[in-house]
Amino acid sequence: MNQTKMAQTPSDGANGTADVVIVGAGIIGLACAWSALQDGARITVIDPDFEGDRTSHGNAGVIAMSDSTPISVPGVWRKVPKWLMDPLGPLSLDWKHLPRALPWFMAFQKASGRQRFTEISHALAALHRRTYRDLLPMLGDAGALPILHRRGALLLYETKAAFEADAEECRFKQSLGAKLTVMSARQVRDMEPALAPVFQHGVFQEECAHVGDPREIVTLLRARVRALGARFVPGHVRAVMPSEYGASAALEDGTRVSGRHVVVATGAWSAGLAAGVGDAVLLESERGYNTTLPDAGIHLSREVVFAERKFVATPLDIGLRIGGAAEFAGLRAPPNYRRSDALLALAKTFLPGLRDAGAAKWMGHRPSTPDSLPVIGCSPKAASIVYAFGHGHLGLTQSATTGALVADLIAGRTPDVPMAPYSIARFAR
Ligand SMILES: Cc1cc2nc3c(=O)[nH]c(=O)nc-3n(C[C@H](O)[C@H](O)[C@H](O)COP(=O)(O)OP(=O)(O)OC[C@H]3O[C@@H](n4cnc5c(N)ncnc54)[C@H](O)[C@@H]3O)c2cc1C
Repeated sequence: MNQTKMAQTPSDGANGTADVVIVGAGIIGLACAWSALQDGARITVIDPDFEGDRTSHGNAGVIAMSDSTPISVPGVWRKVPKWLMDPLGPLSLDWKHLPRALPWFMAFQKASGRQRFTEISHALAALHRRTYRDLLPMLGDAGALPILHRRGALLLYETKAAFEADAEECRFKQSLGAKLTVMSARQVRDMEPALAPVFQHGVFQEECAHVGDPREIVTLLRARVRALGARFVPGHVRAVMPSEYGASAALEDGTRVSGRHVVVATGAWSAGLAAGVGDAVLLESERGYNTTLPDAGIHLSREVVFAERKFVATPLDIGLRIGGAAEFAGLRAPPNYRRSDALLALAKTFLPGLRDAGAAKWMGHRPSTPDSLPVIGCSPKAASIVYAFGHGHLGLTQSATTGALVADLIAGRTPDVPMAPYSIARFAR
């Protein structure tokens, strides 16, 4: 006996006229909704907690379009043992989680081969070249442009050795189109006088930007998507599947919501839904931490990246946000806020006079694939199911472009970016 109820609204698939059901209302799901709404599609968005505190709400807020190389830089493996030895270093692993994460790590190692690294970088650059073309209309329509600050970002090096070790990657990024300028110690200090005078070199990433508050971006976009007519259904989706209407999302309460297409945009929680369709994917939560200081007492004009220490400081409108770290411990382990404390202590050495009164700590789940490429595209099992997840460190940056590409696929247009690199099919090979 089929126990599922059909939700009775015109935008559901019961009458065969539904358009798109989007599962997940983080920045990616909302960007997909916004783009499909531009095509006149009728949209239903499902999420258990629309105003929750997921990854899109608390990230570092950077439009990091110059970051067109994957995390799996050739040779990165040599640094891993040292990082893992330091309990509060940039990388940590809950050893109980290792058996589960092992295939991901093996694929990560494979992605760091030189040829694969080059292919991945080209695929990332193809997305990033479109960043502002896609992002500005979306943020403009949502009324969010006043909190987009296009002041670049500054990569900082304490030692010549570290700067030189990254020089080849920097030149490679330039060859992919990134506008990067090498800065002397003096130029770094002139740009950001609040920094301690310990940085020998910098790289100015001209095209980067930051937002005033990522939560505000999500809030404004959600309000705009609602105003454009999307229906919001609170609920937890336990499975998505092809159906006579196209595709359906089955909710835990037994409700089924159907559309011509279902988009899976559930961030770090997406692997189970894809597996239910028959699509394997390697996806880990790469847990990141930050602390927001509402009254930091120092001024930065732009995001600064402490290259050797692998953390960043972003001058959001709501305070200075200090964040970073990559922790592999799965989706359920409680946060270890000693990581935020460690980053804050480091930040105090680089930003003299930093005040931490009212500090707010946060942990978020980066939805990370081993090759740093997002999963964007139709399921090989059913073209009515479209994936949009796995954006790792760059979900805010890639949000509007992901939305535009998903809208193209749904409308039957051929995207102007070759889509094969982002297909979930790469995990079946
Ligand atoms: C510390 C940190 C700093 C970062 N800094 C940056 C940055 O500066 N720039 C940048 O571009 N990116 C950054 N990122 C990455 C970025 O935040 C993520 O890539 C992005 O937020 C992912 O968005 P999402 O919509 O896929 O996932 P989420 O924001 O996690 O949204 C997923 C949604 O799906 C819902 N959901 C989950 N399961 C179900 C289900 N079964 N049924 C229904 N709904 C479900 C959840 O409730 C959630 O609302 C950072 C991440 C971290 C952790």
